[in-house]
Amino acid sequence: MYEWNDTHRELRAEFAHWYEVLGDGHLEADREAGLPTRKWEQVRESGLLRLPFHTEWGGRGLDLLSTMYVLEGLGEHCRDGGLCFSLCTQIVSAGIPLQRYGSAELKARYLPRICDGSLITAHAITDPDGGSDVLGMGMTAKPDGDHWVLDGDKVFITNGPVAGLIVVYAVTDRDLGPFGLTAFLVDRDTEGVVAGPDVPKMGLRTSPLGELSFRDCRIPAGNVLGRPGMGFAVLDHVMQWEILCSFIVQAGAMRHRLDRCVEHAGRRRQFGRPIGSYQMVAGQIVDMKIAVETSRRWLYDAAEGLTKGRDVTTDIAIAKVLTSEANVKSALSAVQIFGGRGYLAETGLEKDLRDAIGGTVYSGTSEMQRIRIARMLGLKESQT
Ligand SMILES: Cc1cc2nc3c(=O)[nH]c(=O)nc-3n(C[C@H](O)[C@H](O)[C@H](O)COP(=O)(O)OP(=O)(O)OC[C@H]3O[C@@H](n4cnc5c(N)ncnc54)[C@H](O)[C@@H]3O)c2cc1C
Repeated sequence: MYEWNDTHRELRAEFAHWYEVLGDGHLEADREAGLPTRKWEQVRESGLLRLPFHTEWGGRGLDLLSTMYVLEGLGEHCRDGGLCFSLCTQIVSAGIPLQRYGSAELKARYLPRICDGSLITAHAITDPDGGSDVLGMGMTAKPDGDHWVLDGDKVFITNGPVAGLIVVYAVTDRDLGPFGLTAFLVDRDTEGVVAGPDVPKMGLRTSPLGELSFRDCRIPAGNVLGRPGMGFAVLDHVMQWEILCSFIVQAGAMRHRLDRCVEHAGRRRQFGRPIGSYQMVAGQIVDMKIAVETSRRWLYDAAEGLTKGRDVTTDIAIAKVLTSEANVKSALSAVQIFGGRGYLAETGLEKDLRDAIGGTVYSGTSEMQRIRIARMLGLKESQT
């Protein structure tokens, strides 16, 4: 297990104030939904968006593990799950692939504004035809001189309604399978790009999500991330970061919930005794503790492996399934342990449950992660 030192602890202490500020008014924010400009201004001011980017572009230059450590603190102390999700999307969607695969010119053009949050970013992979089956997407890009022409629609795009820059994944050669996918940096004000409104959803309501459409949208060839046909490699890199960063936030949220349940179970008395003295309640709390510790270990170990250049395909898939499903179970347990109070909006626990459920769907569903693990075990898929 990774060891944290004083520098890490000082980092968390530096952001502690912002964790609270960003979570302020989270129940009301959930009722109102959407991402108010005022809130995003606070995100920008916090400096959290700068964490993993090189200082050359205005970043903090932190490595992956340190970035995750700060984000775990965010998940623990900021109760606005939607805001945390949009913040993680801003970090991983465009900045991370740009830093790794972007040309010097693209980095200079976009990274400083991604770091300071003046340019909101999104990534558009899912479309009406291709969800879990990414390569089945209908979105295409065709070469035309020194440009590419993008055509298609994208759905469920986090930050889509407010993004100024979108990384769009499109099929450039269907015959080449995974080598026929390309990632494009697309400015929102490019002719032919239309962003739909925020679509209402079960949870993460403060994270805007919507549809994007691209019609005869001409993108300069220089806006390709990496090279044409490298889209799958770019996406793999981004998904590793997305899973590690957004699910360590969930591990933080689980820790917060655990502490609340321990406190409540010690204080709330029924039949003359604290409910925590009943084994059935204590057992649920113990399972919450096991879930949070297991989740964070898998996430940090996978991150350490990734940093050391190991193949962590299986580890990241395990960490994703484990954390997302543990988060739903922990949120459900918290509602149960709080009884009627847990069902009320005012405790924030029903919101936690609604927020948690999305985690088993985005970044690759639980089923797709299990399929990935089965493949790594050498199990062949049945065609029935
Ligand atoms: C909150 C939220 C935020 C999101 N943000 C983004 C974003 O920013 N950018 C983006 O591009 N997308 C985003 N998505 C979309 C998300 O990535 C997709 O919803 C997800 O990949 C599943 O695709 P789908 O919805 O088309 O479901 P489908 O692929 O249609 O799957 C439906 C069900 O069938 C199962 N299934 C499919 N194929 C198989 C199989 N071979 N074996 C077993 N089961 C299978 C799935 O696991 C799932 O349970 C977001 C989704 C949510 C909920």
